[in-house]
Amino acid sequence: MEIGENRRDAHYVEFRAKQRSGKYVWMRCRGYLTRDECGIPVIFAGIMHKMDGQNKVDPLTQLFNHRMFMKRIRKYIEKSQEEKIAVAILDVDNFRQINELYSRKFGDRILCTIAYNIQVLLPDNARLFRLDNDRLGFLMRDAGKKEVNQFFSRIQKRFSALQEWKKEKLEIHLSAGCAFFSDSGQTADELYLHADYALQYAKEQGKDRMVIFTEEILNQKSHMLELLKVLRDAMNHEFRGFYLDYQPQVNGRTKALTGVEALVRFCDEKGNRISPVEFIPVMEKEGMIYEMGRWVLRQAIRDAGEWIRIKPDFDISVNASALEMMNDQYIEDVEKILEEEKFPAKNLVIELTESSAVQRMDIFRNKYKKLREMGIRIAMDDFGTGYSSLEFLKNAPIDLVKIDRSFLKDILYSRFDSAFITFIVEICHDVNIKVCQEGVETLEEYEMLKKMELDCIQGYYFGKPMSKNAIRNKISAECQTEGND
Ligand code: C2E
Ligand code: CA
Ligand code: CA
Repeated sequence: MEIGENRRDAHYVEFRAKQRSGKYVWMRCRGYLTRDECGIPVIFAGIMHKMDGQNKVDPLTQLFNHRMFMKRIRKYIEKSQEEKIAVAILDVDNFRQINELYSRKFGDRILCTIAYNIQVLLPDNARLFRLDNDRLGFLMRDAGKKEVNQFFSRIQKRFSALQEWKKEKLEIHLSAGCAFFSDSGQTADELYLHADYALQYAKEQGKDRMVIFTEEILNQKSHMLELLKVLRDAMNHEFRGFYLDYQPQVNGRTKALTGVEALVRFCDEKGNRISPVEFIPVMEKEGMIYEMGRWVLRQAIRDAGEWIRIKPDFDISVNASALEMMNDQYIEDVEKILEEEKFPAKNLVIELTESSAVQRMDIFRNKYKKLREMGIRIAMDDFGTGYSSLEFLKNAPIDLVKIDRSFLKDILYSRFDSAFITFIVEICHDVNIKVCQEGVETLEEYEMLKKMELDCIQGYYFGKPMSKNAIRNKISAECQTEGND
């Protein structure tokens, strides 16, 4: 147009064109107008080419890529005069599972559908980019929280009604993080980072939502990064600061000590104790959990080696995160550690949190089988907090169910909770699964539970997590009273 109006002789545009196949491609057209002596246009010549391979366009979705996203943010900032710019990162929830359960090709198709369906909703002041894997970026000019939230709600609404996915029985949800220029960042890099922090926060809060960056998120993130540094450092120094406590498990009827659960602890160099509830998710997220799990297992069976010499049927329970179980080396490593420490598999119980184990039953079934063939028992931790628990019990290759503490809290007042426990015990016993109740804190609770034929009980009432020496003393004391009886 500028050429036509005699304003410019050079022509440069980038545009999307639809091919006959229906696929979009990015094109660049560059041309130059030559004029005669009088300034009359004589010839316009130039070249037009596909932009694939230019490192600008993502070949799968034909959206501009990460590099262009950053470039565009910089450009917007430069041009902005007090104008608000929204920088957002969108991420498909559980996309890895889609790839795993179906195929990569199918995953690619889903991504294209996602990109397309967001694009049709894009307002004029917004642009969409493909950043990497299952991440999209979008920029919105002259927009505040309200506009961005509205846009996200429209995406959610459209996705929940999409027929293409209903056919496949798929539910696709997105999480998003958003940062605004200039409230939440001055540079493109800062805005990107802060949008990413907000996205991580959205995931932690349960996904399927958009979170706008705040100072509080930044503080939390800084705290997490600090913790991460401390944990890494500790791991690089032979797990300095990590240690295990052990919580007694007793026989439901006789109250005799039958075993312990190993619970990992961490104390930093300044002497601050950090709870596993805080550091385990960090280690899971940062890929450190596997190594820690190996350390915990070795440490626990080393300690328990002495206990089983005094009491040969003593059980040691060790927690394992689903991420550990997913590791291809897991079975081999467990076998190797048992062998090296000369520890009998029959004294070891591996506790897995229920929700993750249920969701990945098909992947884990084989592993459970192998572990059980070795003589190790499998316990389902936190039972009742996940979903489809009963269905799962029907043919679960497990030996023990640990009912979550939350069912105990109201047992004295809630008929439902006490009926639930009785019911679970009955079903489990029918299919040869033992049952343990966690979190028993008072005599009243114990009295109530006594009627329920639980195989094992654990909780503060019988002992808080304690040092290995305290456990040894307990075992010795019990063996002595048994001897005196
Ligand atoms: P969990 O496996 O369900 O462990 C039981 C938690 O409940 C422990 O908290 C224990 O101290 C607490 N507890 C036990 N009895 C009572 C009670 O009567 N009342 C109350 N209020 N709490 C009780 P802890 O030690 O903070 O561990 C928290 C979680 O951290 C564990 O939950 C487990 O999921 C995870 N964890 C601990 N050690 C390890 C480990 O070595 N590996 C992995 N992957 N996870 C671990
Ligand atoms: Ca446990
Ligand atoms: Ca538990």
